[in-house]
Amino acid sequence: MMTGTDRVALLKTNSFFVNAPEFLLTQIAIMAREESFKRGAFIYAKNDPAENFYVLLEGKVGHPEVQAAESQYSVATETDHPGQLFGFAALVQGMPRRVISARCERDSRVLVISGRVVQELASEQGREGHELLQTLTRSFAAHERGIASRSGWVSIRNAGKVYDPLGRSVVAVDDCSIEIRPGEFCAIVGPSGCGKSTLLNAIAGFDELTSGGITLDGEWINRPGDHPRPGPDRIVVFQNGALFPWATIRENLVRGPVAQGRMNEEQALEQARTMLRKVGLAEIEDLYPGAISSGMCRRVEIIRALLNDPRVILLDEPFRGLDALTKTVTHEALLELYDLSRKTILFITHDLEEAIYLADRVLVMTTRPGRIKQTIAVNLPRPRSHHLLTSPEFLRLKEEAIEAVHDEAVKAFAAGERELA
Ligand code: ADP
Repeated sequence: MMTGTDRVALLKTNSFFVNAPEFLLTQIAIMAREESFKRGAFIYAKNDPAENFYVLLEGKVGHPEVQAAESQYSVATETDHPGQLFGFAALVQGMPRRVISARCERDSRVLVISGRVVQELASEQGREGHELLQTLTRSFAAHERGIASRSGWVSIRNAGKVYDPLGRSVVAVDDCSIEIRPGEFCAIVGPSGCGKSTLLNAIAGFDELTSGGITLDGEWINRPGDHPRPGPDRIVVFQNGALFPWATIRENLVRGPVAQGRMNEEQALEQARTMLRKVGLAEIEDLYPGAISSGMCRRVEIIRALLNDPRVILLDEPFRGLDALTKTVTHEALLELYDLSRKTILFITHDLEEAIYLADRVLVMTTRPGRIKQTIAVNLPRPRSHHLLTSPEFLRLKEEAIEAVHDEAVKAFAAGERELA
């Protein structure tokens, strides 16, 4: 067994850890465990869940899939330097399975580090922790491939909101903590009045929390006394829509990115047209919002949000009130646009089927005061299509969600009756 100091020294030999705060490295070193593997054994296989990542202590580890397709990948196919880090999938949300396997080419010893622990420790370290996660995630792109570094990490920490604290105080949200990883599609469901919109408004910067706080990419965006403000890095799409009625769809789409100076009109128009085509709206750019259906308006609004390149998109029951058929088309459009952009999305809804169909993770909130009661991981493959809706796994997840929400809905109903009495 190595001492904690030896482990920290070993971690520091790796360029990914060189700038990490000492405290964080010490914690990681303490939490890690040592494991030995025989020659030929798999440390992790391609289809294993990505829970841990690994640092080599001694031996030699190869990546069979990468070796098989060496010409396609410009990454190391084997690792025999002590201190070498491999298998970062554990740090990347939306990557429930490993992309490649790792097999020992000699008897090997590795340090096993829980990805979850690193995420938690890093999230407690604000900006420095965020930078470490970004560095590690970026290195994943080169190593296990396929994931670019992303921003849009929302961390809600022990958030609380009391409306009218001096009068008839209403505790809307209490001690609520949620981590939304960069690029994750996260849905929140729960009975009416449980505090979903309160949370979303706090992230958007519309309203101030009364306790706890929220960070975006490691920076505080909401905590008591700080007077939060909305920003272009967090775009909200509401159910009532917010396209300018006096401007054509084209003008509605192009205005934002051009005003921000990120693109000229031609570039913005090209991107807008690509997205409009993707969601079956190639012909509408000269029309005014009043001339298109509300389902189309929602699709245009999501495109407009994406063109503004926010770090997070917040959707507050955006498809409420759409008829079933329009909703199906709009869901498919949102899935297409999400696959294209992989922006962090927080989606609030009453509709359990919609939440499971769209999200990577469904969080069920309790009745007021709102907290997270249950997390449902949706490991359904992407790209998704409506065929999923009848798959056994989808139906199983739906049953789990119905169970969780039902109890809360009964409690909310009883509380409502008490309040009316
Ligand atoms: P949800 O979005 O889950 O339906 P909300 O976040 O809108 O719930 O509301 C949570 C609770 O806070 C509800 O009981 C609601 O009545 C109360 N609430 C929301 N906004 C205000 C406000 N501005 N003043 C007082 N109470 C409010």
